[in-house]
Amino acid sequence: MEMKLLSSDKENFRFLVKGISPAELNAFRRVIVNHLSSMAVDTVEILDNSSALYDETIAQRIGLVVLKTDKESYFVKENCKCKGAGCARCTLDLTLEAEGPCIVTADMFKSKDPAVVPVYGKTPIVKLLENQRLRVIAHAILSTGKDHVKYSPGLMYYQGYPSIKLGNVKNAEDIVEICPRKVFEMESKKLKIKNIDACILCNACVDASANEIEVKGSNKDFIVTIEPWGQLTPQEMVEGLVESLHEQIDELSEEIKKLK
Ligand SMILES: [Zn+2]
Repeated sequence: MEMKLLSSDKENFRFLVKGISPAELNAFRRVIVNHLSSMAVDTVEILDNSSALYDETIAQRIGLVVLKTDKESYFVKENCKCKGAGCARCTLDLTLEAEGPCIVTADMFKSKDPAVVPVYGKTPIVKLLENQRLRVIAHAILSTGKDHVKYSPGLMYYQGYPSIKLGNVKNAEDIVEICPRKVFEMESKKLKIKNIDACILCNACVDASANEIEVKGSNKDFIVTIEPWGQLTPQEMVEGLVESLHEQIDELSEEIKKLK
C-alpha cells in the first residue's frame, strides 16, 4: 500500500491510496462513520420554555448542535467510574438562558469546558418573541455513530483513481469549459490534461466529445476524501480510525484464542 496527500484544509482531507481493495476501504469508511467517538448533547433539562416550539422539538435541535470534541478529557459513559450514572468525567453540562425578542443560537450556550463548545455558533435553535423565555441545561456525552448519527464525526468517501485517454477531440475548447473540475487546459491549440487528481469521473467530457475521450476509474488505486462535520479534525479522524481498528482486531484475536 502507498499513500500520498492530495489536499488538506478545514473542510476536507484528500489522499491517494494505491494497492487497496474497495472492500478494505469500505471497512475503513464504516469505522469512520460508526465507531469514532465524539461529543453531542444526550439529554436536555428544560427549566423554562415559553417559546412557540414544544420542549421535544427544542431538545431535538439542541441534540444536533455540533460540539468541538476533546476526546482525551472524557470517558464513554459505560466505561466511566460512575457506571453510567453521569459525572464530570463522562458528562459535560452546557447551560442556556435567553429572553425574547431574539433568535436563540448555539453560541448562547455557556459550556463548563472551554474546549467543548458549539462549532457553528450561528446554528439557530428557536425564535423568541417579546416576553418569551428559554432556560435549559444540556448534558453532553461522548458516544459513537453506532448509537446515534449525531455522534458521527463526518464522512469518508472514495473513487477509483481516474485514467483519461484523449482521442481525436474536435471541440477541445468546449471540453476545457465543460469540465466542472477544470481538469483540462489548452496547449498549442491542443487539449491537455492539467490536473488529473481533480477528476471526479463525472463523464461530462466523454459526453461532450462524442466518446473521443475515455475516462475510467481504477479498482486498485483510490482517491479518498474525509469530510469532517467539525467535532474532530481530519487528522484526529484518521488517528481514531487506526486506534479503533487496532481495538477491534485485538478484541477479535482475544475471542479467537478462547475458541481453542
Ligand atoms: Zn461518569
